[in-house]
Amino acid sequence: MTVIPGEAGSAELTELPDPEPKEGELLVEPLYLGVCGTDREILDGLHGEPPPGHERLVLGHELLGRVRDTGRLVAGIVRRPDPVPCACCANGEWDMCRNGEYTERGIKARDGYGAELVTLEEDFAVPIPDELGTLGVLAEPASILAKAWEQIDRISTRACSAHERVLVTGAGPIGLLAALMGVQRGLETHVLDRATEGIKPEVVKALGAHYHSGDITEVSKGCSPDVVVECTGVAELVAGAMRHTAPGAVVCLTGVAASRNLSVDIGALNNELVLENDVVFGSVNANRRHFEQAVTSLREADRDWLRMLITRTVPFERWQDALEKGDDDIKVVVEFSQP
Ligand code: BGC
Repeated sequence: MTVIPGEAGSAELTELPDPEPKEGELLVEPLYLGVCGTDREILDGLHGEPPPGHERLVLGHELLGRVRDTGRLVAGIVRRPDPVPCACCANGEWDMCRNGEYTERGIKARDGYGAELVTLEEDFAVPIPDELGTLGVLAEPASILAKAWEQIDRISTRACSAHERVLVTGAGPIGLLAALMGVQRGLETHVLDRATEGIKPEVVKALGAHYHSGDITEVSKGCSPDVVVECTGVAELVAGAMRHTAPGAVVCLTGVAASRNLSVDIGALNNELVLENDVVFGSVNANRRHFEQAVTSLREADRDWLRMLITRTVPFERWQDALEKGDDDIKVVVEFSQP
């Protein structure tokens, strides 16, 4: 599954030689590969960078694979530390890289996992328990939320009372996994999405959370969240997520979207943030600890509920179909034929 970054419509299935594992690398047969908004952006020529000296980038960063030698299931970590390395990368916290010289498999200057056979550095392979099976394909997206929630938990230690209510904006895979972790923390969990019918309200209900499809201002005023996890990057929701929170709220932004002008009263927003001791922060990527936390969270989740998140499975040969987003799609995965 390859693409020429920066060139929309350049996606194809390319014939490549089998990879040769170097010292410390595993040979891995991908079983399932999740696709997400980042892959769509790369396909549209808006994002992505090929490895140095290459024209094409092998796509794919949400891997569930089987190690050829041992038969063990693994997920693949996405980011690799910058070569300098900065203080964070030197400490295994590449998700917090300070100089931007990190690389990412299937995204930035490193080939991804979208091939019939890939190599994976041992240190970047995360064991997936057999009991999770194919649901292990959710480990990578779940790692993004494990990181976000870890940061929320750290910031929350400044407060004198525990947070009680979380509002998640967006009921895609990222939003629903954010909601899962809110419920797992014992918080009253609210999810806002524009869908008024279909599977999303059902999935939220099955989690024991509250579903809303109205205006964010009304929803926030109604539930007065003390944690908000914004999972869409949609300008109106980003602006709305910061308003009408409970005092001392923590707002975590996880979405990325095309730039868009929006008229916002920054003065009023400033006053609310200041007068209520609110925190707004951004969160991206995940390190090994977050992948491990993600696996624990998936293990503790209801398997039938997790299965509801995978709404479509597309064979490898038709991988581009996976990138077309249907109205009722949550997580779409590409399935590799098994030898
Ligand atoms: C991936 C992250 C990555 C981010 C930016 C996301 O889709 O899950 O690992 O850091 O894109 O490239």
